[in-house]
Amino acid sequence: MKIGRVVISAEEIDAKLREMGEQITRDYEGSDLLLIGILKGAFVVMADLARHIDLPVEFDFMAVSSYGSATKSSGVVRILKDLDQEIEGRDVLIVEDIVDTGLTLHYLLKNLSVRRPKSLSLAALLIKDGVERPPLDVKYEGFHIPPAFVVGYGLDFDGKFRNLPYVAEMEASDDAG
Ligand code: 5GP
Repeated sequence: MKIGRVVISAEEIDAKLREMGEQITRDYEGSDLLLIGILKGAFVVMADLARHIDLPVEFDFMAVSSYGSATKSSGVVRILKDLDQEIEGRDVLIVEDIVDTGLTLHYLLKNLSVRRPKSLSLAALLIKDGVERPPLDVKYEGFHIPPAFVVGYGLDFDGKFRNLPYVAEMEASDDAG
């Protein structure tokens, strides 16, 4: 497998994150916002989005597993690392890299809402079109993309390519046997 067509350029991502950050800044003005990044993929989006939010936000992270080295969702969500802090009474915004089947976010919303945050919303850079998923209210969304497997900007293939500054499709190498 090798890197294929660029789906979203670094410039497009930056412009979109700026827009999303400005919207979040307006919506949460005066509130004590906690951003929760979903590891590993969301660490890049989290870092860049947060720098476009002009508020004294706090950060926490959760790690969940939904993909191994395969390119299909197993539907099984396992918490590998839980939050470090309580979220009761807090305004919470979950930051995710991509919504595919929506199973990960569906599970996290259920899991986190039991902890009684003041509000609980979702931000995702990428939403895959043409995928059947449970209804999911993504308050801040970046781009809708076709249902192909993508890498870059935090997204990996077999642990690699998370550092690409753009989002690209994977394609079979010519010499693949
Ligand atoms: P979902 O639970 O919505 O099916 O999947 C969410 C997680 O699956 C994402 O956070 C991401 O880690 C992984 N994922 C979904 N689609 C892709 C993709 O096209 N490429 C990569 N690298 N990971 C994906």
